[in-house]
Order: sequence, then C-alpha cells, then structure tokens
Amino acid sequence: MRWVSSRGGSPAVPFIDALFAGTAPDGGLYMPERLEPLSPGQLDAIRAANGDIVAIGTIVGSHLLRDEITVDAMRALVTDALDFPIPLVQVTGNIWALELFHGPTLAFKDVGARTQARLLHHFTDGTPLTILVATSGDTGSAVAQAFHGVPDTRVVVLYPEGKVSDVQEAQMASLGDNITAVAVHGTFDDCQWLVKQAFADDDLRSHVWLTPANSINLGRLLPQTFYYFVLTSLGPPEGGHYRNLVVSVPSGNFGNLTAGLIAKRIGLPVNRFVAATNVNDVVPEYLRTGEYKPRGSVRTVANAMDVGAPSNFERMRAMYGDSFESLRCDIAGAAFDDATVVAEIGSVFRQYGYLLDPHGAIAWLGLRQNLAAGERGVFLATAHPAKFREVVEPAIGDAIPLPPVLAEAIKRPRHSEKLRVDYPTLKSLLLARTR
Ligand SMILES: *Cc1c(COP(=O)(O)O)cnc(C)c1O
Repeated sequence: MRWVSSRGGSPAVPFIDALFAGTAPDGGLYMPERLEPLSPGQLDAIRAANGDIVAIGTIVGSHLLRDEITVDAMRALVTDALDFPIPLVQVTGNIWALELFHGPTLAFKDVGARTQARLLHHFTDGTPLTILVATSGDTGSAVAQAFHGVPDTRVVVLYPEGKVSDVQEAQMASLGDNITAVAVHGTFDDCQWLVKQAFADDDLRSHVWLTPANSINLGRLLPQTFYYFVLTSLGPPEGGHYRNLVVSVPSGNFGNLTAGLIAKRIGLPVNRFVAATNVNDVVPEYLRTGEYKPRGSVRTVANAMDVGAPSNFERMRAMYGDSFESLRCDIAGAAFDDATVVAEIGSVFRQYGYLLDPHGAIAWLGLRQNLAAGERGVFLATAHPAKFREVVEPAIGDAIPLPPVLAEAIKRPRHSEKLRVDYPTLKSLLLARTR
C-alpha cells in the first residue's frame, strides 16, 4: 500500500518514507491511498482474541502494513510496545470504559508513542536515529518513556526549566541511557524555536539523522486503530447484530478519533462515533453548522485537549472526500464546559463508583448525550484520574493515591543538561552525542 498526502499535492510514497518524513512535502498529512477491509477470517481471529491487545495489534497492524512488515515482525514489535493491559470495564448496564491509561505515563499516548518507537527502529538500517522534541510536559515524557532502551535510537527532549510538573520532569530526566533531557532557560516557545533551527540546519542533518516524533506521524496514528478492535470482545447483544455500538472519543488534535475512523473503514462494527471536546469545540461546531473556524485555544481542566486548530482535522475531512454529509453520518459532536465536567466526575463516582479523569468525563458525557435506546456505548478513558488529582480530588471530595509508577519516578535521581536559548550550543550537543 502507498501513502498519499491529505492535500493531494505530493506523490504517493511507500510507508517507510511517510514514517520518517512526518508531514508530506505539500504540507499535508500522510494517509493510506486505499483501505482494504479485514477479511472475514481476520475478523473472526480478532473476536477470538477476546480483547488480547497483542494478538489484535498483530492482526490489524500486519494488515495495514501488509506490504511492509511480516506478521512475525509485527508480533514481536507489538509484544514489546504494548506490555500493559487495555481493559474494557463495564460502568453501568449499557456503558463500558475502554481504559487506555495503564501504560508508563498513564495516558493513552503511550500506545501510539511506544509502537512508533519500535516501528522507527524496525525500519532503520542500523544508522543511529535522533528523535528531537520540544515539550511543555506531556508529549516529552511519553516520547522519552517510549524510546527508553530502544536500540539505535536516542531522544533529546527540550523542556522549559521550572515550567513542567515534578512528575513530568522525573519521567524525562530520570531515565538516562539513550534519553537526554535538556532544561532550557526559557519558555516552551523557545524550546520549539531551537528544535526548528535544528531541523532547518542542513549541515547538522548531514551528520545527524534527525526525526520528529509528533502526534501527526503515521507511526503514532496507526497503532491507535488496534485498541478499537478490543470492542469486538463485547460480542453482539442478545439475538442482535454487532452494529449497535456507539464510541465516544475525547478529542483535542483528533488523532485518536481519526484512528477510529480508519478502524471502521477496515471493518470495526460500530454505528457511529461521538467527537467529544471541552469548550475548544471547533469540530463539534463544524458538525453542527458545516463551517470550520479554527481559533486560539482556551485553557480547561481537560488540558490535553486544549486545541483550537486540530491538526488531524484535514486528515478526517480528506478521508471523507471533503463531504460534510458523509462525515456527519459517522460522527456526532458534543462539547462541555469545566463546571459540567467537574460536577459529572463527582456524580458518576457517587452513583456508579467509577472514577473518571476530566478527559474521560467528557467522553462519558458525550456518550450519554448521544446514546439511543437499544444501543450500547463505549467511551475511551484516556488518562489515569491520578494524573489530574488537582481536578479530581475536589470533585469527589476525597484524596486519591499516586499510582506506584509515578511515585517511583519521582524518587529516582534526575539529570538534565542545562541550555541557554542559543542554537550553536544545542547543535554541538547534538553533534557530540553522535560519536
Ligand atoms: C492527547 C490526549 C487527548 C486527545 O487526543 P487527540 O488524539 O489529540 O484527539 C485526550 N486525552 C488525553 C489524556 C490526552 O493526553
């Protein structure tokens, strides 16, 4: 299979080129040229896997990349990447949570980032690869954790000194080995500026093989299709048909939902999706009015979804041939403000004994709003509630313990390189570490 740009202005390329390039030369995002459905035999095997993410990821991954990677290589890669459970938990009669937060940084980005790390390694030829990222906190910790110990790769992660949380700094700066944490004496924008200089520096790039690890990369997107197929373990309802399922996705950059749309295209039996957002609601607004008006983002309690111009939107649109009507057949929109989210965390905890994080709460709310009688609903729970203690604890009026992975990370010794906002210093750091 070949991969094409969402803007249609670049030639189709093989997967390996799309994987290492990030964006297409015309500025668009890579997407599959054509999606073949899974065969009935493959779908049977997926159902028989009964929610086993490694078995499912092996089938779905080697189907999507069937000309590029063998089933055995895919299995090895997924086994290594997805070494944590992705349980489907029943919250009430017809509603389940798909818990995507049991990885090392307790958020769903672990799924994409850990698999991407191993895909990049699989497709390298032994030349050391440097992943350079600027972070305001969360992305950097997920990427650092994801690549830790992956051979022939090293991560250099730049973060603004004193401006990331204690846990986030611990997750970047306590790993060592192939992970270099760099504390920049400046802002997140300064970090991004430094990274941009490096990617624009041809001299540097003739010595160091640099790649970004951003969320629009196919290596992150494709593995996110895997966990949607865990839903097939729900089976059909009594005397019913698989297709009465509604899936609600808490969305910011819309990578997660785009992966769901790909899953549906290749055979996931789902009726429709709910695009659930906080007040950064450009996509729900589009689904209501047909007009897409990106804007600056607003800060909310679900801050991993504070996105005013979602990068995957053009990919979603291109997948539907730019047809508003057909997009609207598959996706309903929903948006919620902070007060509603916080109140709902409290009332769901009291009523069902289930603890939501602010992102999962938005997905739950979106599902409740859009579930018809006789349908079954699943919402994606994308972060561990303990990651958002400052919101969740007041909402339930009780303290929640820090999970062991975070408690241990905080205790480990840390080391960061210190850097002024000075590109030549970053360049020599990048060059020094290649030898
Ligand atoms: C990144 C993130 C999201 C949003 O996912 P997108 O793919 O950007 O839509 C939702 N919840 C959490 C906890 C996240 O970290």
